[in-house]
Amino acid sequence: MPKIDFNNTTVAFAHKTNNDLKKAWWLFNSFKYPFIVNTGPKLADIAFSLHLPIKGIIKQTVFAQFCGGENIQECNAAIRNLNQSHIGTILDYSVEGEENETVFDATCNEIIATIEMAAGNAAIPFSVFKTTGIGRFYLLAKVNAHKALNALEADEFNRVKSRFEKICQAAFDSNVRLFVDAEETWIQTTIDDLTYGMMRKYNHTNAIIYNTIQCYRKDRVAHVESVIKNMDCKLGFKLVRGAYMEKERERARNTGYPSPIQETKEGTDAEFNEVMTLCVNHIDKVSICAGTHNEESSQLLVDLMETRGIAANDERLYFAQLLGMSDHISYNLANAGYRVAKYVPYGPVKAVLPYLSRRAKENSSVKGQVGRELRLITEELTRRGKK
Ligand SMILES: Cc1cc2nc3c(=O)[nH]c(=O)nc-3n(C[C@H](O)[C@H](O)[C@H](O)COP(=O)(O)OP(=O)(O)OC[C@H]3O[C@@H](n4cnc5c(N)ncnc54)[C@H](O)[C@@H]3O)c2cc1C
Repeated sequence: MPKIDFNNTTVAFAHKTNNDLKKAWWLFNSFKYPFIVNTGPKLADIAFSLHLPIKGIIKQTVFAQFCGGENIQECNAAIRNLNQSHIGTILDYSVEGEENETVFDATCNEIIATIEMAAGNAAIPFSVFKTTGIGRFYLLAKVNAHKALNALEADEFNRVKSRFEKICQAAFDSNVRLFVDAEETWIQTTIDDLTYGMMRKYNHTNAIIYNTIQCYRKDRVAHVESVIKNMDCKLGFKLVRGAYMEKERERARNTGYPSPIQETKEGTDAEFNEVMTLCVNHIDKVSICAGTHNEESSQLLVDLMETRGIAANDERLYFAQLLGMSDHISYNLANAGYRVAKYVPYGPVKAVLPYLSRRAKENSSVKGQVGRELRLITEELTRRGKK
């Protein structure tokens, strides 16, 4: 089996200058301090509302690490840099704005602009969107719970469906593969239904529309099995572990239903590996993207491909990570000839603060990502004689 050396920091950071690496080291090191992670985003919010000149500092530090730019054009440098290392870009409009029709229409247009940018551009292999970017959370939850909608709500839901369809139609017309991100379980059935409807319509010859499968859910192996069995078209799945674990457990506890989430990390890991194996076993019908920063899962996909004689550069199998994280996975896989892409979040600095705050929190546990990112960056600086 080809073993990927995820500890090869020479490959992982070849695209980074000494200065870039030192900046990244300071940033990840700062995430060790709870004050910075917990209070920083609140202070940034206050500073913005007082019109203090804080944007430049954020843009050169945490924003530069995790985001491509404030708009699509500003992402060109990130797209070029990634492409030089044979890594694709997935432009992710990460603005978490107000829930109103004007914002939903604007977001819909912005997502279509990312699809137009990706059309015919090998450096941008996928587009992506979140359903809550084009429709109200409360409305999606009401549909999910099979509650009757009043006339105004029914009209509103028709507008959500029409935006959803417009985005999928644009992806189909431009031959751009499109991920629909997964969200909370109490709106996810609505998202699944909309997405599978679009798959039936647009995935006749190729997987254009991809649903996202959150493997921290206890029911996803059965779900994927059933979709494979019952849907008569090509399927696309982005496989992830899932980002809303605490929120899911808390709601289940407070509302009094059994938690839909695996009880342990090992349970989630096993579900992820099982879903991935199931998909690879149906590769003639199913295309996948393993959206993960987990080295074992990434190696497992490499092993599954090898065992089944699937070429490293097969278009139906992708690996994906987030910009600014897990370069040791992305760059070492791409260097070995596998298909890799990174989410490149973008949007005005103030509007992407919630996204940046989540990245800082995720990287703040010494046991978790931060330990690993900091260790690898330190190793590479030492190897270059710069530490
Ligand atoms: C390209 C990409 C796209 C993504 N898209 C989405 C998306 O559309 N929707 C979404 O929800 N998330 C998405 N994510 C985030 C993803 O779900 C994970 O939260 C994140 O990637 C961490 O999981 P991991 O596989 O990278 O690594 P790991 O560090 O191995 O796993 C951490 C994850 O394991 C699970 N976990 C941790 N502790 C426990 C426990 N005690 N019990 C049970 N499970 C546990 C949680 O899901 C946690 O996030 C995406 C991630 C990437 C890289």
